[in-house]
Amino acid sequence: MDGSKEETYSDRFAPLEIEADVFRELGHELVDQVADFLATLPERPVTTGESPSKIRSLLGESPLPQQGTDAKTLLKETANLLFDHSLFNGHPKYWGYISSSAAPIGILGDFLAAAVNPNVGAWNLSPVASEIERQTIKWIAEMVGYPLDCGGLLVSGGNMANFVGFLAGRYAKAGWDVGAIGQLGPEAKRLRVYASAETHTWINKAADMFGLGTDSIRWIQTDADLRMDTDLLKAQIENDLKNGDKPFLVVGTAGSVSTGVTDPLAEIANICREYDLWFHADGAYGALAACLPDAEPDLKALTEADSIALDPHKWLYAPLEAGCTLVRDSKILRDTFNYQPPYYKFDEVGGEPTIVYNEYGPQNSRGFRALKVWLGLKQVGRSGYERMISDDIKLAEKLYQLADKHGELEAFSHNLSITTFRYVPEALKQGHEERETYLNQLNTEILTRLQEGGEAFVSNAMIAGKYVLRACIVNFRTNLKDIEALPEIVIRIGRKVDAELQANH
Ligand SMILES: *Cc1c(COP(=O)(O)O)cnc(C)c1O
Repeated sequence: MDGSKEETYSDRFAPLEIEADVFRELGHELVDQVADFLATLPERPVTTGESPSKIRSLLGESPLPQQGTDAKTLLKETANLLFDHSLFNGHPKYWGYISSSAAPIGILGDFLAAAVNPNVGAWNLSPVASEIERQTIKWIAEMVGYPLDCGGLLVSGGNMANFVGFLAGRYAKAGWDVGAIGQLGPEAKRLRVYASAETHTWINKAADMFGLGTDSIRWIQTDADLRMDTDLLKAQIENDLKNGDKPFLVVGTAGSVSTGVTDPLAEIANICREYDLWFHADGAYGALAACLPDAEPDLKALTEADSIALDPHKWLYAPLEAGCTLVRDSKILRDTFNYQPPYYKFDEVGGEPTIVYNEYGPQNSRGFRALKVWLGLKQVGRSGYERMISDDIKLAEKLYQLADKHGELEAFSHNLSITTFRYVPEALKQGHEERETYLNQLNTEILTRLQEGGEAFVSNAMIAGKYVLRACIVNFRTNLKDIEALPEIVIRIGRKVDAELQANH
């Protein structure tokens, strides 16, 4: 045993290792498969609509294999498994939720990032990668008109990006050292957060996870356009102050997840200044549209926020995952998260200061998600993004017009690249008592069939109790023909479902 053991270690070839020539061959084959996959996306169904048990059965229930499998076969089969049984948000007719088509250069960027595998938690572990992230943050700030000396970092997505802004706001405005003393502070004051009823659920998670409790959220009602009513905001702040609470944060949304509406951000900024509160803008979806010269003033006013959350995996078309937080005052961001333990000494290299990303956010080891974002920005520049974002918005507007014109469709809203509408059968043009209940039931069933059918993919929204279909175009592969096809598909399914429901009555 002893002698052979020595031998084994000196010319070690680990089971996971793949020799250069084999790697080259496997890589080329995989790239060929991916290129074919991308080229055939438009002809594929958006999704196969297979059941969970069907999908599970594809993998089988065998225990963890004792022995390995040949890498070549494994990769080929896995690629086909994914191509044949996935939902493709890169499909030109995918308009569900807010996930984008992945930029091809980002696909390759993730490959390259994983190959070099820098740990972007510290500069000396990732010299060029840390600088690429720094430049990416600066370019994103430039795109939305934010100060270039802001702090910021990339995180996993919009939720995380919002959490980081939330925590920076709590650090800056709680009035006591929450990090050390905890939530209640010396005077046992209750921290209060203000957000409109249209705010994404990240705010519930943040209030819960960071110990405030969801009851600390003051839900401010919206006006008829679903924008935060700032008179009510002010009244609520006054009232809480009177009761001895400690307001610290107002969240304004730049492009709501449901209908793409932007809160009156300029007014919210004024109120935050007046009461010395942190203004956090949730621009996970909409912030990047602020790069357009003709962006609405309220969207552009997101630059007045103390912190902004935005999602490169939405309107920069980066492959998942990539979120981004920008904080006006870089020092606040660092002070929020920086605990320098004796075993890390990272922020100076050769006498020069460096950026040490683990000090700016919750993560310690960090992947190189900046690369895919940076490559996209360099590949097409500001003008390329302006064109794609603006085309998405124009196509959504076109969809609104088509729905508005159609006798059997009712158009509801168009904001940014989100359009909402519903199917209304001819016979129900005139209202009767149970009309709304029936239309909700009908459109719910239409959506289920649409999503399972694979011809196109949209989601839904509730607008004043009405169930509507919702198309969100964050998709550089969508063209006018794709958009024109949607009303026809909805009407065909709508007539069928309506007939079935009527027959069952
Ligand atoms: C998408 C979105 C989020 C959540 O972002 P994830 O990237 O899914 O974590 C939060 N707020 C808004 C307004 C969004 O559109």
